[in-house]
Amino acid sequence: MSQSTATPIAAPAVQVPVVPLLQLGTWVVFFGLLAMLAIFFVSADQGAISLPAGNAVHEWVHDARHLLGYPCH
Ligand SMILES: [Zn+2]
Repeated sequence: MSQSTATPIAAPAVQVPVVPLLQLGTWVVFFGLLAMLAIFFVSADQGAISLPAGNAVHEWVHDARHLLGYPCH
C-alpha cells in the first residue's frame, strides 16, 4: 500500500455579503402586495371583478386552485 502524498487544497476565502435589513422594507412590502394579489387571483377570483372580463384569470390559475384546496367546482 502506498500512502497518499496529495496536499490539501486550500479553500478560497468567501466573503458573505451583509444585507441591511432596514433597506429591505420597500421590497418586503412590494413582494407582500404581489403575493397577496396572486393569492387573491388563485383563491377568490371568479371573474366578477377581474380586469379582463370573463373567466380568463380563473382558468389560468385553475390548477393552482385545486392544488391548494380552494373550493372551485
Ligand atoms: Zn376547478
